[in-house]
Amino acid sequence: MSARYEQHGDVAVVTLDNPPVNGLGYATRVEFAAGIERAAADASVRAIVVTGAGKAFSGGADIKEFGSPKAIAEPNLLSLIALVESCSKPVIAAVHSVCMGGGLELSLGCHYRVAAPGTKVALPEVKIGLVPGAGGTQRLPRALGVEPALNMIVTGEPVNAELLAQVPGQKLFDQIIADDLLAGAISFARAKADAHADGSPLPRVRDLKARHAEPDAYFQFARNTAKAMAKNFPAPARCVDCVEQSMKMKFDDGMAYERAAFISLMMTPECKALRHAFFAERATSKIADVPEDTPKRAVNKLAVIGAGTMGGGIAMNFLNAGIPVVMLEMKQDALDRGVATIRKNYESQVKKGKLKADKYEQRMSLLSTTLNYADLGDADMVIEAVFEDMGVKKAVFEQLDAVMKPGAILASNTSTLDVNQIASFTKRPEDVIGTHFFSPANVMKLLEVVRGAATAKDVLATVMALGKKIKKTCVVSGVCDGFIGNRMIEQYSRQAGFLLEEGCTPAQIDKAVEKFGFAMGPFRMGDLAGNDVGWYIRKRRYVEKPNLRYSKTADLLCEMGRFGQKTGAGWYDYKPGKRDAIPSAQVEQMVADYRRDLGVAPRKISDEEIVQRLVFSLVNEAARILEEGIASKASDIDMVYLTGYGFPLHRGGPMCYADTVGLFNVVQAMKRFAKNPLDDGEFWQPAPLLARLVAEGKSFN
Ligand code: NAD
Repeated sequence: MSARYEQHGDVAVVTLDNPPVNGLGYATRVEFAAGIERAAADASVRAIVVTGAGKAFSGGADIKEFGSPKAIAEPNLLSLIALVESCSKPVIAAVHSVCMGGGLELSLGCHYRVAAPGTKVALPEVKIGLVPGAGGTQRLPRALGVEPALNMIVTGEPVNAELLAQVPGQKLFDQIIADDLLAGAISFARAKADAHADGSPLPRVRDLKARHAEPDAYFQFARNTAKAMAKNFPAPARCVDCVEQSMKMKFDDGMAYERAAFISLMMTPECKALRHAFFAERATSKIADVPEDTPKRAVNKLAVIGAGTMGGGIAMNFLNAGIPVVMLEMKQDALDRGVATIRKNYESQVKKGKLKADKYEQRMSLLSTTLNYADLGDADMVIEAVFEDMGVKKAVFEQLDAVMKPGAILASNTSTLDVNQIASFTKRPEDVIGTHFFSPANVMKLLEVVRGAATAKDVLATVMALGKKIKKTCVVSGVCDGFIGNRMIEQYSRQAGFLLEEGCTPAQIDKAVEKFGFAMGPFRMGDLAGNDVGWYIRKRRYVEKPNLRYSKTADLLCEMGRFGQKTGAGWYDYKPGKRDAIPSAQVEQMVADYRRDLGVAPRKISDEEIVQRLVFSLVNEAARILEEGIASKASDIDMVYLTGYGFPLHRGGPMCYADTVGLFNVVQAMKRFAKNPLDDGEFWQPAPLLARLVAEGKSFN
């Protein structure tokens, strides 16, 4: 049963009932249409209320059907809307909780709409690269007014129904019903049946006029704004076009215009990338051998070891979610510094109006500090964020093993160390897991959840759920040096070094990558994060790989003391207190000297080659990560790069991008790069999985 039919005296109630959000899937549409037809045919029925069961009126299209023939099978959404709109009896939409996308479009086909306060109303299609596809761009401006409608359509953001009901002249909501929505809707329906008993025509949104006092100036402004704010995405500007046509065209022509825009956007790589990201995000929590109903451990109190850069940011995530945190350090002054930084972060949020002062105090009141491990006994979970040194981690985990209560989860924020070895320092390796936050930990969305060989399933399930609670995108990674994200970035950095050696400047490489859409190129990124971090890691890592070819320019840079913004100089020069990257003559000289020592004659390298070499470096390593099972699906790797590394969203992540380019073409490019006389033949060996997919004509996703 996915739509219910009931009769309350002379009013029929048709209820969408397709949990969780009454998605308008095929079966629901069939039963809903049958309900409307039955009510229309029943002489004892004078009016019809349509509503939704449970937690929504309707969230719109059923995402499970996306892209399948069922999504458009008749009766499709347009047919349902036509059915209610042309019904000879008044149809009243009683909306509550969630009224979005196709759900809102369906309600706009009804003759009247009543809403419960707090109903979130939205047309979110733009977020997956589309315009609304069932009349939203034509009916909402007519019902609500051009400007508020366009704001909703172009941002996709939800607005509360009672706010919309206050828009002057609006005809979106006829009434806000504060208490019993259904009872209120039924009496409203009865009143309308009486009012139209004389045969007076039922109001239809399509018959209203969308108006604006200065349409040309307004739409020009709106189009410019949409283009500036979403420069890599075509959909927002198309939303503006469609809404403009709601004023200029006859209703049916406007509908055809919207449909054409919808279909042409559907084919764009940007829309494909956004839809991919939408599903990839949801898929991250699906772990083959850990079902969603795996029992979880309660985490009501957290301990954090280390109040440095990461410890403080990690603590803030939990304070924000209302979970008490106790923070442990070796010395009081380190604790004081850590707490002061947390305060400073919150205070700047208060100053910017992003956090209320009382919330700030409330969060700080959840934070306590200690120098004594004995004070951690009542915490349900601990996250260690001390120095990146196995000896220090060992000392910390041995102490945690001694004091933490049985069943407590012991997590490490290590970026590069072996989580299995860390687990072996305890007598409870099944309770040990990696939680790799990204800096700044209170801001960055990505959390790599590192599953050790012994990690218990309920520990993994608990940490994934907890990650969701603190609003992170959690991606499971197996244990390897660098996990998913940093292991890939190592190859990207190596390749950036080779490009430098062969003739590029840091600025040329950064600009090419930024034009492709990355938030920041590799050298500006290095200067921001601190070039010494990679230097330290290379010293440890490359001892074991003495024959590995890499450009020593980054080491030479650090030997010059140029660690980045924090030392006022890195790959670029910086003016005191400023973050603008200024090309550095000193660095260019260092690189030129290095080239000369290598005997390399610099050549001009195109932006296209730069981008391909960098992005395909990521892709090739990702294929190895996938084959080794470090990542369980290609889309997880995309989420790591979209949420943790500033990979351009409109390209959908490295794997999605490689699929779009075509894996055959990716491998062809790699073969071309391998012919470079400076290449040693190692770097561009296609990963076995990549080669196999090409041979089988397949893609990653
Ligand atoms: P940090 O140097 O800023 O802070 C480490 C803190 O740990 C210091 O305040 C130090 O006093 C404290 N500490 C050291 N030994 C301790 C011990 N035995 N007991 C209690 N406290 C101790 O370092 P960070 O950048 O916050 O990094 C912490 C961890 O997070 C490392 O494992 C690092 O690899 C990882 N990490 C760092 C980043 C980053 O960008 N900084 C990103 C992801 C992960």
